[in-house]
Amino acid sequence: MPHFFLAPGAIQGDAVTITGSLASHVAGALRHRTGDRLTVVGEGGRRYRIVLTEAGPRRVRGVIVEQLSSDHPPRLRVTLAQAVLKGSHMDGVLQKATELGVHHIVPLVTRRTVVRPRDHRSSRQVARWRAIVLEAAQQSERVSIPDVDDPRPFDAWVRSNPSDDAARLLLWEREASRSLRDHLGPGPPGDRAALLVGPEGGFDPDEVDLARAAGFVPVSLGRAILRAETAGLTALTILQFAWADLGGPRTASDNAPHD
Ligand code: SAM
Repeated sequence: MPHFFLAPGAIQGDAVTITGSLASHVAGALRHRTGDRLTVVGEGGRRYRIVLTEAGPRRVRGVIVEQLSSDHPPRLRVTLAQAVLKGSHMDGVLQKATELGVHHIVPLVTRRTVVRPRDHRSSRQVARWRAIVLEAAQQSERVSIPDVDDPRPFDAWVRSNPSDDAARLLLWEREASRSLRDHLGPGPPGDRAALLVGPEGGFDPDEVDLARAAGFVPVSLGRAILRAETAGLTALTILQFAWADLGGPRTASDNAPHD
């Protein structure tokens, strides 16, 4: 069962009130009725089981019957700085990176980005991207929704990127001396990592130099040239497996009985 993310202030005592698009989704599309149980996520990632006392397309109300164990904070907060890709490829990266536990997604405009977000379209596009990650976070029972930034120019973001990313990796298929495997070492150098992934046409060499000067380490993912949408997800999977909990157990409360 998906987790539903509550708007701030939706919980008052043990009463939960849901309005807007989430109410119409729950009572309309999902046809939930009074008496049904849902798992909702409140502020701070706290999860609750609620029983519905009212289920209308404009308002859904419920009562908290159980507070589920709050997930430990993520062991690794990965920022995926992904050059904007054409159409559904970008949608797929957003959806699957969310399932894989990405913390923050920064769409980048690089020299070879094919699709250049137009300002007037950009806000609509970003709203659509945010809806994709919300749906993916609900479906994958995540307790937090990744931030999705407005598209940023590559140079400005690389230069401004805060240095609190312990691991700052640029995925480069031409890197001949260092691989991601080499970089995994004994464990995460901290709890934050940034992955820079190019567009369909790859990074310009001067973009690689700029990123290197800003502290990003170019690493290879091996001999195969991967599509951009494959490369970022592959590196994210490797980091989450090696440095976080991907591939680990589900806890008992994760498997709380569902109606
Ligand atoms: N320059 C590539 C070529 O020769 O076809 C095209 C770029 S590749 C399709 C898209 C992006 O995926 C690259 O910018 C890079 O970030 C990443 N990538 C693909 N294969 C990779 C590999 N083997 N190692 C590291 N990064 C890779």
